[in-house]
Amino acid sequence: MTRDSVNGAASDNGQRFSAVYGVMGVKEKSMTIRFRGIPTDRFERLRLGGLDANGQAPIAMKAEGGANPCRHCLGLIADGETKLVLSYRPFDEPQPYAETGPIFLHQTACAHYDDEQVPPWFHFLDPAAIRGYGADNWIRYETGRIVRGIELAEAVNSIFADAAIAYVHIRSKFGCFQCRVERA
Ligand SMILES: [Zn+2]
Repeated sequence: MTRDSVNGAASDNGQRFSAVYGVMGVKEKSMTIRFRGIPTDRFERLRLGGLDANGQAPIAMKAEGGANPCRHCLGLIADGETKLVLSYRPFDEPQPYAETGPIFLHQTACAHYDDEQVPPWFHFLDPAAIRGYGADNWIRYETGRIVRGIELAEAVNSIFADAAIAYVHIRSKFGCFQCRVERA
């Protein structure tokens, strides 16, 4: 074996290592995801009287009970507090897969949720519906799952193992949009 061939082999191994390491790096990166509330600019517009996805003004009413999730802070609106009820389309543009549905929001300003952790109350979703979307904003049907809230983190992470998935939506058993999950 000549020196060149040894170096060549070493180089080849190095390239193989880089290739494997690179793939691992991509996988590692895909596991860093963030759960995000709706964009603050859209929240503020709606909160300050802007029209909803149906062209109607959000309805202000008293929150009753403990199941009134705000889609901006991804926390629960306290019993007795005022909530806004409105129609929301969690997509930038209308297109065949851009579902529109009812959501609640705090009427008063709240902090935008943007975190690697599943919002705490999501653990009580029973069940949650999750699905991945491609960069074209169309549903990737192979990703659809119904899971218990405590299984959300693992289930969402597994969807992101496919590089073709651009983002994931978490919905309630009623089909109501809860939040979007993206790669960090
Ligand atoms: Zn809120």
